Amino acid sequence: MKEIVLVKYGEMALKGLNKKTFEDMLTKNIKRRIKSLGSFVCTSAQSTLYIDPQDDSIDLGEVVDRVGKIFGIAALCRACVCEKDFADVCTKSVEYLTDVLSYAKTFKVNAKRSDKAFPMKSPEICMELGAVLLEKFPNLIVDVKEPEVTVTVEIRDTNAYVHAENIKGAGGLPVGSSGKALLLLSGGIDSPVAGWMMAKRGVQIDAIHYVSPPYTSDRARMKVEQLCEKLTDYCGGIAFHCVPFTELQEAIRDHCPEEFFTIIMRRLMMEIAQRIAAKENCLALITGESVGQVASQTMAAMACTDAVCRIPVFRPCVGMDKTEIIEIARKIDTFDTSVLPYEDCCTVFTPRHPKVRPRLADIEKAQAAFDFEPLIQKAVEETELKTFTYNK
Ligand code: ATP
Ligand code: MG
Repeated sequence: MKEIVLVKYGEMALKGLNKKTFEDMLTKNIKRRIKSLGSFVCTSAQSTLYIDPQDDSIDLGEVVDRVGKIFGIAALCRACVCEKDFADVCTKSVEYLTDVLSYAKTFKVNAKRSDKAFPMKSPEICMELGAVLLEKFPNLIVDVKEPEVTVTVEIRDTNAYVHAENIKGAGGLPVGSSGKALLLLSGGIDSPVAGWMMAKRGVQIDAIHYVSPPYTSDRARMKVEQLCEKLTDYCGGIAFHCVPFTELQEAIRDHCPEEFFTIIMRRLMMEIAQRIAAKENCLALITGESVGQVASQTMAAMACTDAVCRIPVFRPCVGMDKTEIIEIARKIDTFDTSVLPYEDCCTVFTPRHPKVRPRLADIEKAQAAFDFEPLIQKAVEETELKTFTYNK
């Protein structure tokens, strides 16, 4: 029995003229993710992509697993390929669905007939196939309202397809379709989630990370690289920019009032991020901040940080509780890495009494006490680039 994977495109179906570009982008993202599993023929028709494995030994479970993480997909399922002939649909349905139907109590048949030339209409297909299945599986009764199993028959251009599963896709838009943004990626829980959320909206992600050796260790950096690698499952390739930040942090420590350390540090981070963003064609910055989580994440503090920003700063976690962020972190499998106990540059020289309601004028004055510009330029120049590609 021949089995394929059917992928139903998501939201972009609404985008009119852009639809073709979006679909091409999504198809490319899908092909890249499954390439290492074997050879496939992918064709698209009627907002559906058909992934047709060219070799029986290909693990379709793994295909579904990988494709289920790709943004731009509403639903997907494995399906059995039938001739466009009702007798063949019946025989194959019985055989293909034996396992699920033998143990279920209730079911219904759902027919979709996009080929209107097919001699039977949808209600007729439902009734007749339903009757065949009832006879073969005496354990079953029909429940059209809340069936345990819905057997779907799709009569399409060249073939008919039967399946009993409909897996929810990752939703969103194909990564790359909204342009690129630069994610400030720490080793914490929130920023990987923020990156995932923006990737969901079709944004391609570059990451930037600040390190302050010897105050932060190599292991801390490796942890962030590991997070990048995990994010490639969802975001595809990620260019990772690692910024040497020690001298700037020492300058802050030596020249600024302690209560402003964190905010001035965040302003310098933003300044550097924008310069890297300009070089790399990133149109916005992304952070994992959430209102009220820590002293540097009050609205007043964010206003002081944003005052140095010339491009939009997206904070998709801004209105979320920590528990909600953690839920996503677990789902996307970044949580266990994020909670590894290595230090971050944000925890170096933290003030004992940070200002919760800083005034921009005070911050600007404090920051003006030292000329950070040469050190900013040096940090940008010495930023290291490493590229993470999807490598499964
Ligand atoms: P996270 O869990 O993402 O680390 P957090 O709650 O620990 O966030 P902060 O440490 O104040 O909060 O950092 C706020 C945001 O600043 C982070 O979400 C991240 O976007 C950015 N950030 C913090 N530290 C770094 C770093 N070393 N490199 C890059 N970005 C950072
Ligand atoms: Mg942090």
